[in-house]
Amino acid sequence: MCVLCNQGKPQNHFGSRRTFLKGAAATGAAAAGLNLFAPRPARAQSDMPPDSGTNGRRYVIRGGSVMSMDPQVGDFARADVLVEGKKILAVGPNLQAGGAAEVDATGRIVMPGFIDTHHHQFETALRSFLADGVLINDGSGSVSGSTTYFEFILLTFAPVYRPQDVYINELFGGLSQLDDGVTTVHDVSQIHHSPQHSDAAIQALFDTGRRAAFGYFESAGANILGTNPGNQYPQDAVRIKKQWFSSSDQLVHMIMGGEVYLGDASTEQSWKIGRKLDLQIAAHILSPFGIRPIMDALAAGQGGSNHDIGIGPDNLFIHMTGMSDTAWQRVHDVGAQVSIAFPIEMNMRHGMPPIVRMQMMSTPRHPFEPSLSVDVECTLTADFFTQMRSAMNLQRMVVNQMILDSPNGNQNLPDPRNWELPQSAVTVPGNFPYWPTPPAGIPAPLTTRDVLRYATMNGAKALRLDRKVGSLTPGKEADILILDATRINVVPLNQVPGAVVSLMDRTNVETVIVAGKIRKWKGQLLDVDLPRLRQQLEASRDYIFSAANIPQNLFSGQ
Ligand SMILES: [Zn+2]
Repeated sequence: MCVLCNQGKPQNHFGSRRTFLKGAAATGAAAAGLNLFAPRPARAQSDMPPDSGTNGRRYVIRGGSVMSMDPQVGDFARADVLVEGKKILAVGPNLQAGGAAEVDATGRIVMPGFIDTHHHQFETALRSFLADGVLINDGSGSVSGSTTYFEFILLTFAPVYRPQDVYINELFGGLSQLDDGVTTVHDVSQIHHSPQHSDAAIQALFDTGRRAAFGYFESAGANILGTNPGNQYPQDAVRIKKQWFSSSDQLVHMIMGGEVYLGDASTEQSWKIGRKLDLQIAAHILSPFGIRPIMDALAAGQGGSNHDIGIGPDNLFIHMTGMSDTAWQRVHDVGAQVSIAFPIEMNMRHGMPPIVRMQMMSTPRHPFEPSLSVDVECTLTADFFTQMRSAMNLQRMVVNQMILDSPNGNQNLPDPRNWELPQSAVTVPGNFPYWPTPPAGIPAPLTTRDVLRYATMNGAKALRLDRKVGSLTPGKEADILILDATRINVVPLNQVPGAVVSLMDRTNVETVIVAGKIRKWKGQLLDVDLPRLRQQLEASRDYIFSAANIPQNLFSGQ
């Protein structure tokens, strides 16, 4: 990182940024200036440790309730976290910190940052456009079945994106999640109509200044329409890796997109390029896209056009709804990663989030747990408190109903009698209360601690970052949240994991630290000119709607 930037004198290291923004400015709404990055305000700096994140600089976060998410480190009702440069030096009560700057965390919860393992940031300008829609037009004529993801987001909006749209959408979406305490993202950018689009996405991830995996996926929508003559996916992965990701000592790394519904020839190419470059290979896996037989072939090691590609520990599978027992067994056995987007899967007809299946396959020797992902803000928020609460509530809805149903012997779901579908329920004779003991084999209801693990350590493992982040462990990089438990929606603090998962929201995210550097301080995101960024995003939104020939309508989908 640049010393001058860290001192609040932002330098323009990114000549290319101007190129991305020229077009956005030319649309008229944001011609006033191009510098989206602002110096740190003096007020914010006055009690903030100076030069955080730079070599040798120390500060100590004092007196918070520390939830490390590392079983070896543990929890502390009141303790300190000592940071030097990018790293955590120590966690414990009453740390001797020499002359280190002090951050008072009294009444605060100190924990690792959230990790989102699947997010399409390029869609930020389309936020809530598809709040009512499902995945694909279902011919019903209903509101949800008509304005849909495939037809509108992929086939209509995505093809018109210019590199500058990619840049501002990616940047704004990333900063918004940073403000929410999400310190790492896997950005599934499916907007690679040309190498310039790819570079714009990557530049934005670096400029956001949070940890990210750049997911190099296809040129969505345009690929189907054939409107992307500049498309270089997947072979441009070689240049991209060399140009942007030759160092592992940086905040952004690369993942290869290997969508299997694009056909065996594409799988053949993308998976082989990814494996040659030693990249993880990620793919959306869901039965509505006809992927179940494809996954079975991959599970048998017979995927791709040469029938020689198999599932490996380098795979990161998103959703995993509707897959066969065979495919699941293979995913489990090889140690592939699974990312569940609970709210989106429930909302958009991907299928049942497969949490109970994963729990039933999990063993102490071979634990099998998901990470969490937000997917798309055109339909639902990228907020991580929503993620954790949705995961916990969905799983509990299923297992609680299984337990209530157990005396009937109808543990195999779904049974319409007891899912409030129109069929009369069986009445169980016996005394009040009707409260069965859970039978063997039904997973325990998820706890707040479970979903916090999904949201932190599991995310780090899913992106191969678990040696760097995911917990407050001395030696790891300092991606830290300070959450305010004195606010009106949380006080009094009675249980730390419960307060975070059950009560908190973005207003409690007081301070956010990435690799030791303070990026949000006492409620204020630093280093960015938000009004100007908003103008740029709105200008991009106006262009995208206009080019796609979709009227803007504030009170309805289409
Ligand atoms: Zn997705």
